[in-house]
Amino acid sequence: MPATLTGLDLRIAFLYGAEMNIYGDRGNIIALTRRAEWRGLAVTIEQVGIGERLTPGYHDLYFFGGGQDKEQIAVAADLARRDNGDKGATIREAIEADAVALTICGGYQLFGHHYRPHNGPELPGIGIIDVTSEAGPDRFIGNSIIATPDGDLVGFENHSALTFVGPGAAPFGTVTVGAGNNGRDGTGGARYRHAYGCYLHGSLLPKNPWFTDLLLTQALARRHGPVELPPLADDLERAAHNSAARRAWATR
Ligand code: GLN
Repeated sequence: MPATLTGLDLRIAFLYGAEMNIYGDRGNIIALTRRAEWRGLAVTIEQVGIGERLTPGYHDLYFFGGGQDKEQIAVAADLARRDNGDKGATIREAIEADAVALTICGGYQLFGHHYRPHNGPELPGIGIIDVTSEAGPDRFIGNSIIATPDGDLVGFENHSALTFVGPGAAPFGTVTVGAGNNGRDGTGGARYRHAYGCYLHGSLLPKNPWFTDLLLTQALARRHGPVELPPLADDLERAAHNSAARRAWATR
C-alpha cells in the first residue's frame, strides 16, 4: 500500500437505503467500500433515511439508488421537509464544495428538478442536477451501455420516465445500447460537478471498476487532496464488464 493512502478515510452517505435500493443498487456501496479497503482506506457508511438528519459538510460521497414510484413519493416528501434539517440544501452545498454523488434511476430523478409520475402530483426533487423527468408511455427494460469520454458504462435499465438534461448539466455520455435518458436524444445520464446520475442498475459499479475508482479519487480529494489509487488486478471485474456488454449488444 503506498504511503500516501495510509490513514486516509472515506465517509459515504447511503441516502434512503431502506426505500431506494432496487435491482442490486446496494452493490454500489459494497464496490466502493471494497475497492477503498483493498487500498488500505478506512470507510464509514451512514445510511440516512426518512426523518433522519444529514450532518452538513460531513460526507465525501452520497449514494442515492432507485425505487418504485410508491417509495419515491415518500422520499420526495421527506426531502421537502424542513423539521429535521434541509437535506437538499445540505447536499447542494456539499456538491458545490467538491463532494461526490452517484444517483441511479429514482435517485437520479430526485436529484433533478422534479419527476412527474403517471398518476398523482409532480414530485419535487432537490434540483442539484439540471434534469427534469416525466413518466412516458413505455417502459424501457434491458441491458444498456453509455459511452463516456472516460470509458463505457454497462448496466441494466428499467424505467418509464423520460429524463431531459438542461443547460446547467452535461449528459454523462452517449447511449450506444438501450434507451438512456429518454430513448429520443441519444443521451445517457447527466453530471454536474462531481454529481452523476444515470439509469444503470445491476449493480453498476462492480462491473465498471474504472468509474468506481474515478468516484473514489474525486471523493478522497475533497478532504485529502489529490491521491493516486494503486491499480487492482480487476480480472473478474473486467470479465463481468465484458460479459454484460456482450449481452447488451446481443439483446439490442
Ligand atoms: N419510478 C421511476 C421510473 O419508472 C424510477 C424507477 C426506478 O428507480 N427503477 O422511471
